[in-house]
Amino acid sequence: MIRCSLKGKFKKEFNLKKDKLYKTDIAVVGDFVNYELNDDGTGVIDEIKKRENYLSRKAPKIKGASYRGERLEQIVASNIDNLFIISSALEPAFNNKVIDRFLVAGESSHVPITIIINKIDLDRDNLIDSWVNLYKQIGYETIRTSAVTGEGIGTVKDLLLNKKTLFWGQSGVGKSSIFNKIFPGLDLNVGEISTYSDKGKHTTVTTNMIKVEENTFVIDTPGIREIAPYGIKKKDLGHYFLDFTDYIYDCRFNTCTHQHEPGCAVIGAVKNNYISKYRYESYLRILETIEEDIIF
Ligand code: GDP
Ligand code: ZN
Repeated sequence: MIRCSLKGKFKKEFNLKKDKLYKTDIAVVGDFVNYELNDDGTGVIDEIKKRENYLSRKAPKIKGASYRGERLEQIVASNIDNLFIISSALEPAFNNKVIDRFLVAGESSHVPITIIINKIDLDRDNLIDSWVNLYKQIGYETIRTSAVTGEGIGTVKDLLLNKKTLFWGQSGVGKSSIFNKIFPGLDLNVGEISTYSDKGKHTTVTTNMIKVEENTFVIDTPGIREIAPYGIKKKDLGHYFLDFTDYIYDCRFNTCTHQHEPGCAVIGAVKNNYISKYRYESYLRILETIEEDIIF
């Protein structure tokens, strides 16, 4: 591990606009870089290689900054082979809307996704089954796990090996517990990455990448509990709901946002139960949050 700083030439990118908003992510977790080694063992990054993919979200609002249109993009991590969206069956209660937001972020970044529903040992009445079936039907690999009984943990481990996997989920769903069950003895919280934000002040977004075995890396994002997908246009949101994609080309208007437009095939499919009303509600909720003008 080599502690690096950025070469001066990158610094000017922090200040792209006069309206006091700064770019927040020059080098991110998962990037491949070139660096020069200093005598004291530290490094200076002078090149960031092109990213194969990256996950991003809207940067949280910064007090005192002015916002026109969409907030800044904050890149969470790059070059990811696999995104694990982790939720719990109970405690905290299963929240399909959060999963759907994570799914949209993953789909729009073209990252393969696995859904993990943890704490299955608490779900004595199998209330979670209908949700598992819904996501399986859409085409997502959906795994039930318990860090207590060990159910599903082997399956999760098999999916991790020889890949770079990002763990994403709300606080308390059991990400660390699953990780520790798979790799006993490894400590998930190993460091912190700070990113530049408003006026050079640091806000800390913790993202840790851990090499768990040769060629196997896990990225943990304890600083990122919520996600507002970035850079998606209203008319494109439906493409990231994979259960909508069979219908969106049958809408009367190709700019259809599937809200109340006449001849909307998605609304028809919801009425006929071909699309889950819960997914459609999630869609509408995300649609409301999209701000069309992008600053950059
Ligand atoms: P994280 O914030 O997502 O990393 O969640 P943690 O791993 O810290 O777990 C939060 C709490 O849930 C802890 O008290 C764990 O002991 C508990 N927990 C984690 N996984 C399970 C599980 O599969 N079943 C049960 N019953 N509790 C769990
Ligand atoms: Zn439509």
